[in-house]
Amino acid sequence: MREIGHFIGGQAIAGTGSFAEVFNPAAGEVAARVAMGGAGEIDQAVAAAAAAWPAWAATSPLRRSRVMFRLRDLLERDRAALSALITAEHGKVLSDADGEVQRGLEVVEFACGIPHLLKGEYTEAVGTGIDAFSMRQPLGVVAGITPFNFPLMVPLWMIPVALACGNCFILKPSEKDPSVSLKLASLLEEAGLPAGVFNVVQGGRAAVEAIIAHPGISAISFVGSTPIAETIYRGGTAAGKRVQALGGAKNHLVVMPDADLDDAVDALMGSAFGAAGERCMAVSVAVAVGDVGDKLVDKLIPRIQALKIGPGTDPDAEMGPLVSAQHRDKVASYIEQGVKEGAKLAVDGRGLRLQGYENGYFLGGSLFDHVTPEMRIYQEEIFGPVLCVVRAPDVGAATQLVNAHEFGNGVALFTADGGTARDFAAAVQIGMVGVNVPIPVPMAFHSFGGWKRSLFGDHHIYGPEGVRFYTRYKAVTQRWQAGARKGPEFKMPTL
Ligand code: NAD
Repeated sequence: MREIGHFIGGQAIAGTGSFAEVFNPAAGEVAARVAMGGAGEIDQAVAAAAAAWPAWAATSPLRRSRVMFRLRDLLERDRAALSALITAEHGKVLSDADGEVQRGLEVVEFACGIPHLLKGEYTEAVGTGIDAFSMRQPLGVVAGITPFNFPLMVPLWMIPVALACGNCFILKPSEKDPSVSLKLASLLEEAGLPAGVFNVVQGGRAAVEAIIAHPGISAISFVGSTPIAETIYRGGTAAGKRVQALGGAKNHLVVMPDADLDDAVDALMGSAFGAAGERCMAVSVAVAVGDVGDKLVDKLIPRIQALKIGPGTDPDAEMGPLVSAQHRDKVASYIEQGVKEGAKLAVDGRGLRLQGYENGYFLGGSLFDHVTPEMRIYQEEIFGPVLCVVRAPDVGAATQLVNAHEFGNGVALFTADGGTARDFAAAVQIGMVGVNVPIPVPMAFHSFGGWKRSLFGDHHIYGPEGVRFYTRYKAVTQRWQAGARKGPEFKMPTL
C-alpha cells in the first residue's frame, strides 16, 4: 500500500503513528494511506521553518519573486500530472482539475509582483530635517489548514503570497486528498526555495490542535467548514495569533423575470453540479422571482436528468463522484430530509448505478422545488449535487432572503436591468457578488472572502488582502542632521 508522509526541512518524512485511508472515489476503493501527524511533527516543522526564516526574510523581495516565477513555469509544465493527482483522490473531472491548477497558478503570478506590492510609503520632511516612511514586514512562521475540495488551489491561495512576503509556511492539507501537497513541495524545491521555508505535515484534528497551541506559529489561514473555522479562529486568536478562517456557504442565484432564462439555466447547471456541488462557491439555491419559477424548473429538469456522470478521467463526464462514501451518504440523507420536510423532489439523484463503477461514490443531480427558509435543506450546507428552488415575489424579498441566511460567501443575480443589479450589489450582505455570472471567484489580483459566518477574521484571502494578512506594518521616523540635538523635551513632541 502506498504511504503518504510529511515533508519537513526539505526532507520526506515517513509517518510513524496512525494512518488514515485515502480513497479512489470513482472506483470506491482504498488507494493509499496517509500519515496522521500530531504535535511531534508540528514541533519538527516549526523548528525547521524557524531556522530557515531569518535568511528567507532577509532575501530581497526581487529574489523571492524569482522563485515564484520559476514555480509558475513548473506548475505549467506539470499541470497534467497535477490535474491527474487531483482527480485520482478528489474525483472531480479532469477538465475541472485543470481549471483548479490554473486558478492556483494565477495566485503565483500575482505573487511574482511582490517587490511592487511591498513598496512602502515615504514622506520627505515631516518636520525640519526629519523624514518618515513605512514598510510591511513578514510575520515569521505561518500555517495553512486546507479542505478536501480544492487540494491544490486553496493551498495556493495562501502559500505564494505568504512566501513572497518573506514568511515560512507549514501546510496541513486535507487528509482526504493529500498527495498533491507533496508534489507542490517538490516543485517549490525545484524552483529554488531553501529547505525549511515550506513544510507539509499531514493529519487531521491532532495536527490542527498542535498548530493552534504552538507559540512558534504567528498566523493561521484556514479554509473549510464553518464549525471548524470558528473553533480555529477562537482558539488561534486566544493564543495570540493572527487568524483568517474561511467557512462554509449557501450561495443563492437570483433569477429576475427579465433575465435571459437559458443563460440562467446554464449558469445554474455548471455552478450547482460542477465538481458534484463540492465547491464553496457552488450555487445551491435558485431564487425564482415573480412568475419565473415554473419556467425555470421546467427547463432545469431535463438538463439535470441528462447530466453526464462518470469517473473524472472520462473526457465526456460533466460530473464525477463525491469524495467519500460517508459524504455521499450524508448528501443522500439531506435528500431524504427534504422530502420529509415537504419540498417537492423534482429530480432524484439517488440510486444511480454506473456500469463498471458500482462501488464508486456517485450520486445523480437532484432538484428540489418549493423549498422554504424553515427547511434544513435550505439552512444547511449540503455540499453535494442538490439544487433547491425557492420562490420570491420581488427583488426586495429575494434580497431579504439572501441577507437573512447565516452564510454570506457568494451570490449571483441574473437580470437585464442595470439599475436592479446596481441596487442589489449595494444592498446584499455577501462578500462576493456576481451579476450575470454564476461563480464570482475573484481573480488573483483582487481578494476572496465571504461575510457573516462564511469568514472569521479581518482579512479576505490572497490578492492585496493576502499581502496585508501576511505582513506587519512598521512606521519609521528618522532624523539625520548633525548638531540638531536640542536636549530633552518633556512635552509631547510636535514636528
Ligand atoms: P473540514 O472543515 O471538514 O476540513 C477542513 C480542514 O480542517 C481539513 O484540513 C481537516 O483535516 C481539518 N479538520 C477537520 N475536522 C477537524 C477538527 N475537528 N478539528 C480540527 N481540524 C479539523 O472541511 P472539508 O470537508 O475538507 O471541506 C469542505 C468545507 O470547506 C465546506 O464547508 C466548504 O464550504 C468549505 N470551503 C470553504 C471555502 C471558502 O473559501 N470559504 C473554500 C473551500 C471549501
